[in-house]
Amino acid sequence: MSALANNLLAVARGMTAARLSVGTAGNVSVRDNTDAADGFWVTPSGMVPERCEAADMTHVSADGSAHGRRAPSSEWRLHRDIYAARPDVGAILHAHAPFATALACHRLDVPAFHYMVARFGGDSVRCGSYATFGTQALSDATVKALENRCAALMANHGMIVLAPDLATLLDRAIELEMLCEHYWRARCLGEPPCLDDAQMREALVQFRWYGRPRPLDADPDAPQ
Ligand code: 13P
Ligand code: ZN
Repeated sequence: MSALANNLLAVARGMTAARLSVGTAGNVSVRDNTDAADGFWVTPSGMVPERCEAADMTHVSADGSAHGRRAPSSEWRLHRDIYAARPDVGAILHAHAPFATALACHRLDVPAFHYMVARFGGDSVRCGSYATFGTQALSDATVKALENRCAALMANHGMIVLAPDLATLLDRAIELEMLCEHYWRARCLGEPPCLDDAQMREALVQFRWYGRPRPLDADPDAPQ
């Protein structure tokens, strides 16, 4: 069994342990760079990660053909279309995390109420329009909401997070759920004031080097 399948199962279990999903809700995938057919590994449909083995993970090719002893996640089109549209993405997590889902059920974008919104690529985390789970329409709506972003909410459904690899995916998903909780709590006191465009631009610049050594020739006048 591929090491990718083992790592995928570990992240799917981590999603449950972090209370981002319970039961069979949610799904996780990883791009298979070794695969000439531009494929990916994705969690099986309708199975609880704790009761899965690595051999239950499924492989899907870019043409949609699936291989494995289980059916691939019902959201395989969504995973396939994101990998096709976004060469920067190596791993994807979709969950029905409580605070993200509460906001998504109100079809709310997360506005620039906190600088951490910039962590997800822009001045908001958009909520995509509603479509039935497992459909091409849901994939289309979600890919659109993800434009220039690495996270989105899915109306009356949940959240989705993109990362360059499996190693960073779960942490990013936990950060998104925390951001949604912060917004939910802030809204309990009324609609919070938002950062303006210039403030969000500065936060985006800061995140370019956040957590990484800055090269010696970097502009000394640039923020951070
Ligand atoms: P799967 O079990 O088919 O992955 O479906 C769960 C889900 O969250 C659908 O949106
Ligand atoms: Zn779902």
